[in-house]
Amino acid sequence: MKALLVAECRQGRLVADSAELQGFARALGAGASMVLVGNPGELPRFDGRLYFADAREYGEYNPDVHKRLVLQAVEAERPDYVVFLHSSYGWDLAPRVAVAMRSAQVSEVGGIVAGGFVTGCCNGKMRRTVRPLTPCAVLTLQPGAFPAEPSGGEPEILRLEAVKDASVELLRYEPPSVGGIDLSRAEVVVSAGRGVGRREHVELVRALADALGGEVGASRPVVDAGWLEHERQVGTTGQAVSPALYVACGISGAIQHVAGMKGAGFVVAVNTDRDAPIGEVADLLVVADLVRFLPALVAKLQA
Ligand SMILES: Cc1cc2nc3c(=O)[nH]c(=O)nc-3n(C[C@H](O)[C@H](O)[C@H](O)COP(=O)(O)OP(=O)(O)OC[C@H]3O[C@@H](n4cnc5c(N)ncnc54)[C@H](O)[C@@H]3O)c2cc1C
Repeated sequence: MKALLVAECRQGRLVADSAELQGFARALGAGASMVLVGNPGELPRFDGRLYFADAREYGEYNPDVHKRLVLQAVEAERPDYVVFLHSSYGWDLAPRVAVAMRSAQVSEVGGIVAGGFVTGCCNGKMRRTVRPLTPCAVLTLQPGAFPAEPSGGEPEILRLEAVKDASVELLRYEPPSVGGIDLSRAEVVVSAGRGVGRREHVELVRALADALGGEVGASRPVVDAGWLEHERQVGTTGQAVSPALYVACGISGAIQHVAGMKGAGFVVAVNTDRDAPIGEVADLLVVADLVRFLPALVAKLQA
């Protein structure tokens, strides 16, 4: 089985999540080659063939040209799977490649099971297993679903060339509006999850954040309930944070949340459920009711 992994370059830098593509190939037990339109100074460490085109020549994003470059690598490799990250690049490019190849596409793959791929549906409330029936399938990977593969050696580089296209030009990237709140720079983030139970209990989380000199973050249900601003949401559809200390209060550890805080230095989780998945990423799991534990901890810190 062969997978062609489509790595990404943004603002001249190799996107770190590209290493998750390699983690996916390993989990699938597939041999892998890679394709990248990127910066020659930022090549992935990868034990295999890297089909490469220089983004300074072809643009960091130009849908039609990038599609043609990826298809050249597909033609050379004839893979069983063409694999993108489920990022703005993958959302845009994967369907174009799938249509050109007349291949099935499976979006936001979060797991592999015998004979298929697991993806979310109904806004994440259900999971389904999908089996592509075309000889080659195009996939996009849910962020954080597959472990980043430790970097390998020097890839064997094969240059790609395509006719340039002047119909689209990438002008600039615009940073998301974060209002006055920029969690990405905070040294300490204390986040409230659905386990806070009600709006008033968000104040318990805020008190701990204040006592630690940190910022308040949130999981999506807390934001959806209107208890905290969207700018405070941590996760795939919120901000990515990398504080020295992350405290997850009443957060189960869904993959979409973990993807936003996996860069944290030390993770403390407070949860009534000792088997909550957050325990797998936490350095310290406090099995307690946050309504009782947080005030006690704040009182200790203040003393
Ligand atoms: C496309 C998509 C994008 C998404 N993007 C994001 C995102 O960016 N960020 C995000 O967070 N989610 C996101 N989600 C939602 C995600 O899938 C989860 O539903 C969400 O993260 C769950 O939030 P939670 O952990 O707060 O709630 P739950 O999963 O309901 O967990 C609540 C936890 O609180 C614990 N608890 C209950 N009572 C107490 C108590 N008294 N004391 C201590 N612990 C208690 C429970 O044991 C449980 O573990 C996204 C989903 C989809 C489909």
